[in-house]
Amino acid sequence: MNSDSLHLVCPHCQAINRVPTSRLDQQPNCGQCHRALFTGQPVELTGTTFARHLERNDIPLLVDFWAPWCGPCKTMAPAFVQVAAMLEPQFRLAKVNTDTEQSLGAQYHIRSIPTLILFRGGREAARQAGATTAQDIARWVRSH
Ligand code: ZN
Repeated sequence: MNSDSLHLVCPHCQAINRVPTSRLDQQPNCGQCHRALFTGQPVELTGTTFARHLERNDIPLLVDFWAPWCGPCKTMAPAFVQVAAMLEPQFRLAKVNTDTEQSLGAQYHIRSIPTLILFRGGREAARQAGATTAQDIARWVRSH
């Protein structure tokens, strides 16, 4: 990895962009689809897009494993959006619906939801189960 630039996977078209580190916080756009690389919203990932975001982003990936029937997940959803606004562009926030993406849930041994996993360099750095507040999530992420 070149410290002068970072690879970022576009949340819209999945293209890999190389963005100068100095321009990271200047709302960079995707070179391919020209949409914003950071939208202040978590990216919904699927079995096909998860690995690309995990392996090709040079910024850490914070994933919320959730399901539509899970009350605490719904409670935490707005907090997770707030966290996206707080942590972008230093982190990429994403969501995985464990109902539709059961293989990802199994791969990461998700036993209760919501579960948050922080990935750095494609590897799990930390995880936390249970709903919590935006401030607590941001503090937890920054501590790892
Ligand atoms: Zn794009």
